[in-house]
Amino acid sequence: MISSQPQPVGYAKKWDSVIIGAGAAGLMAGIRANELGAKVLLLEKGKKAGVKILMSGGTRCNITHHCSNRDIVKAFGKNGECLHSALAGFGVEDAVAFFESEGVQTKVESTGKVFPVSNRASDVLQALLRRLHRAGGTVWNECPVTDLRSVNGRFELNTPMGTIDTSKVLLCSGGKSFPRCGTTGEGYEWVKNLGHTIKPTSPSLVPLTTPLSWVKQLSGITLKDTLVTAGIGSKALGTDRGAWLFTHFGFSGPAPMNLSRLLTTSNQKGWLGLDSLPDLKSKEVEDRILSTIPLHGKKTIASLLSQTFGEAIPLRWAEALVSQATIFPLKKALEMSRAERQKVVELLKGSVLLVDGSGGFEKAEVTSGGVCIKEVNFKTMESKIVPGLFLAGEILDLDGPIGGYNFQAAWSTGWAAGTSLAKGDLT
Ligand SMILES: Cc1cc2nc3c(=O)[nH]c(=O)nc-3n(C[C@H](O)[C@H](O)[C@H](O)COP(=O)(O)OP(=O)(O)OC[C@H]3O[C@@H](n4cnc5c(N)ncnc54)[C@H](O)[C@@H]3O)c2cc1C
Repeated sequence: MISSQPQPVGYAKKWDSVIIGAGAAGLMAGIRANELGAKVLLLEKGKKAGVKILMSGGTRCNITHHCSNRDIVKAFGKNGECLHSALAGFGVEDAVAFFESEGVQTKVESTGKVFPVSNRASDVLQALLRRLHRAGGTVWNECPVTDLRSVNGRFELNTPMGTIDTSKVLLCSGGKSFPRCGTTGEGYEWVKNLGHTIKPTSPSLVPLTTPLSWVKQLSGITLKDTLVTAGIGSKALGTDRGAWLFTHFGFSGPAPMNLSRLLTTSNQKGWLGLDSLPDLKSKEVEDRILSTIPLHGKKTIASLLSQTFGEAIPLRWAEALVSQATIFPLKKALEMSRAERQKVVELLKGSVLLVDGSGGFEKAEVTSGGVCIKEVNFKTMESKIVPGLFLAGEILDLDGPIGGYNFQAAWSTGWAAGTSLAKGDLT
């Protein structure tokens, strides 16, 4: 096992370039800069570098998404446009080739997510550390930066190892999500003090909570393909299609989590509209029910629904819908009135479920908001406000959906920043 090196005795306090945060972006930047000949120091708060990589993708690490670079840009919404040049320098194919060249074979799953064939996130991290060490990179673990200042055109970093002086600094200390991985958001304050705008932060890709007790009883049920709309008051804010998971506190799974940012950015309570049968129109749903009644009419309505729509409508979800339609649970399907049938169809196609909060930064996979992207030159990742300051990864106001997009943004912006550190490419 390769681990990052301990800090050497008699360490230098003056460096050309220092990277704060040895996560996805920092490690990639360190590799790139060192391979181009720069001697770059990485400072990592945690005992080990890249801890979040180890936890990612359910410890399988969804490295990137099998799609064009343009589709990566689109996935980040309007802010994604800034990623074009970073992706041109190090895109999806480069990321896959990078890991494959380090012996990490990859596979594309049916969702388009790219994982290591081994299903081991540790293989991804080991590949990064191996390559960094081969390039001569230095990582000081357990070395949290406690302050970053600009002094006479250079930078001073406070650390437990003393003050470090550098002419260029790359800040990739991540966002605020999953703080137990070391990402507690102090980087925002330093950059703000240096003159940058920080867009308000909120948890994204986070499970949502509901006040509805009947929903919590459905904990553990997965709906494999749903169309979900998120809204606040009378306003629909966005939709997403994918799996849905009921939990003991509310809603999780890709579709609710992808929409979570729309609800967490506001302090108001919201809702999710759940279409459990997105490929069928209401009329088709009703026709299917009517056509199965002659065959299974003696079953309860819930059993008939589950029989009719198979795994799309698990029995417990069907029972909950019958209950929400205020129909007697043991009523036989052939006894269902027209009005009851229509109510069931309405709920299958559009149950509105209240949301009163989220799992917060503790449970969020990424942070929405961060350093204003307009204040960063994305060709070099250099700050447009503070020459010599570079930014990469999740600290930027960029958050993508589930599917490997966020790592791709970290690899690409890290690579671009590493190139700049080596070139001394000050604007
Ligand atoms: C549970 C979970 C699962 C995820 N799964 C996936 C996935 O499968 N695919 C995907 O694309 N994305 C996934 N993500 C998101 C992805 O991990 C992040 O978007 C990505 O790691 C961001 O990279 P980064 O380098 O900007 O920040 P990070 O990887 O978070 O790294 C930041 C580093 O900076 C260090 N640091 C912070 N402050 C300081 C300081 N003051 N001094 C020194 N060091 C400091 C931290 O300790 C950390 O190591 C997941 C996130 C979580 C939480």
